[in-house]
Amino acid sequence: MSLRSLYGNIILDHYKNPRNMGELPEADVVVEARNPLCGDELTLYLKLDDNQRLAEVKFTGVGCAISQASASMMTVAVQGLPKEEAEELIQLFKQMVMGEAELDAEAEARLGDLVSLEGVSQLHNRVKCATLAWNALQEGLEEFARGGSRAELVEKAD
Ligand code: ZN
Repeated sequence: MSLRSLYGNIILDHYKNPRNMGELPEADVVVEARNPLCGDELTLYLKLDDNQRLAEVKFTGVGCAISQASASMMTVAVQGLPKEEAEELIQLFKQMVMGEAELDAEAEARLGDLVSLEGVSQLHNRVKCATLAWNALQEGLEEFARGGSRAELVEKAD
């Protein structure tokens, strides 16, 4: 996959017009996440309802197009999902950008626009940019399960 198609319209659109960007004062969990390998930073805000659904997901951040677009797309993809389904999507997305997933029609349907980030699997040093928001979400869900409300995540080199 070429760089041109990697930085496709969907990614650029989410980078320039991020969805669900902003603070969420009533969040149940706030995760501060950093990827020092690239300089990406984001804060993820999660609100869960009584049925363990992700009622609201927002983020603020600065960083490269891949990290910010991935965060924006993630908030859209997991909004309203039950916790278990969000966790399944985290695994599927990470497998895709790490080049470990065979994407059949069902997987592509579940990923939707996120498939536009598949090309990251060809750029090893950008994988952590793409997974930052997703690892932050995982961390936030685990912190929520532990009864906590704040978590921090710092990516490390492999
Ligand atoms: Zn980055």
